[in-house]
Amino acid sequence: MQELTHYINGQHVKGTSGRFLDVFNPATGEVQARCPLASAEELDQAVRAAAAAQPAWGATNPQRRARVMMEFVRLLNRDMDKLAEALSREHGKTLPDAKGDVQRGLEVVEYCIGAPQMLKGEFTDSAGPGIDMYSMRQPLGVTAGITPFNFPAMIPMWMFAPALACGNAFILKPSERDPSVPLMLAELMEEAGLPKGLLQVVNGDKVAVDAILDHDVIQSIGFVGSTPIAQYIYGRGCSNGKRVQCFGGAKNHMIVMPDADMDQAADALIGAGYGAAGERCMAISVAVPVGDETADRLIDKLVPRIEKLKVGPYTAGNDVDYGPVVTGEAKKRILGLIESGIAQGADLVVDGRDFKLQGYEDGFFVGPHLFDRVTPDMDIYRQEIFGPVLSTVRAGSYKEALKLAMDHEYGNGTAIFTRDGDAARDFAARINIGMVGINVPIPVPLAYHTFGGWKKSGFGDLNQHGPDAFKFYTRTKTVTARWPSGIKEGGEFNFKAMD
Ligand code: NAD
Repeated sequence: MQELTHYINGQHVKGTSGRFLDVFNPATGEVQARCPLASAEELDQAVRAAAAAQPAWGATNPQRRARVMMEFVRLLNRDMDKLAEALSREHGKTLPDAKGDVQRGLEVVEYCIGAPQMLKGEFTDSAGPGIDMYSMRQPLGVTAGITPFNFPAMIPMWMFAPALACGNAFILKPSERDPSVPLMLAELMEEAGLPKGLLQVVNGDKVAVDAILDHDVIQSIGFVGSTPIAQYIYGRGCSNGKRVQCFGGAKNHMIVMPDADMDQAADALIGAGYGAAGERCMAISVAVPVGDETADRLIDKLVPRIEKLKVGPYTAGNDVDYGPVVTGEAKKRILGLIESGIAQGADLVVDGRDFKLQGYEDGFFVGPHLFDRVTPDMDIYRQEIFGPVLSTVRAGSYKEALKLAMDHEYGNGTAIFTRDGDAARDFAARINIGMVGINVPIPVPLAYHTFGGWKKSGFGDLNQHGPDAFKFYTRTKTVTARWPSGIKEGGEFNFKAMD
């Protein structure tokens, strides 16, 4: 069995804590690797190497830093198939979906090539008599990120690309359930020209996370994962004086108005509800048809589409719509919630509980499920299921549908399907949710906009990627300068390159 490593100061380093976690192949249920779980001392070694490397990197011309990003993009494209295969093997998602995971990270790296423009700062000429005032954005120093299992390529890149482009060092603590791709990304960054020590991968669990939260040298922490952990990290990180942004769980509602194109809405729900086995923070997990007639038409369209879904291992290539969930534990949790839905009175319209795949009986596959007549008091409505389970809550009116989505504690993403521009505009203006789709089921903003939820889906005031990332990973310093007047003699007239 493969023993995975940490990546510290440009080298793969074996774990020394004596603690490991099994990494599964979710399609077969077999343990394929052991992930080392770092101690506080191992984390400290990584931080010290990062702190030693950062000042020179922070003082490097941002255009040179951007060139490393450019080369990294080329290497990501070169190794796309290899990265996707490693990702699917540990996560379980299909190969095209794994490529999407890499691609959506890569696009943020492309955006970070614009670092010289983003970091230019502000200048006021003659702020007073003979006085100039300028603000510069300076790197923070050593930064850190803690990432979830469901996007092991994209989310690490959303963090480390802007952090490094801004001149910081970055310590990545990826999910211990699928740590191989983050290790490959760190190797590729160095192949792209990143000096050693600037991107460290420290594998681990709560012990490593707590060591990050309490380490004096670490200036900022980015977190993406479940809400209870997001709240914990936000609280402890902030009280330790760090800059923290945390993104948590979700329960994304899709409102289907009576005038919506019902085929379009049903197709959208299939992709957004069941893609990646529902293990996406922007998955639609609640359909809210407005009016009983709309609900009946929607369910009629959904059922045959759900029954046609192909569930299987990533090795079956394009012939699979979604794969297994990440662990046996996750499968057990999802099946437990489905039982609670039945017990609490929801209608299980499509029942995937008996799903079995020949040859993969030990894999963590969960068949697709559709619930109708779900009510807001049920556990399947209140909790994030993070599995291939779509709940339908029937709303009597648009107002009721809007209120339902607004009252839910999560506020990551939402969508409305309608042909009525006025309803869509009203929805986008009033909803208290961070990312809104109008006839778009998964409204993940592109790299040059920002990504972030509201309510219990996001803690902190700056979003991920886009212009916010350059604010999060820099500090503003404002200088007020006055110089003695009078022109001095001498000058340099040669055309010089920037060093
Ligand atoms: P998780 O919260 O279990 O783990 C996330 C990270 O926190 C991992 O690196 C893990 O090692 C660490 N961690 C886990 N328990 C900890 C503890 N007790 N103390 C300190 N650190 C701990 O989340 P997950 O299961 O890996 O990912 C799925 C969750 O992430 C879902 O809730 C999903 O909605 C959410 N998510 C949110 C977004 C977003 O942008 N809002 C994006 C992707 C995933």
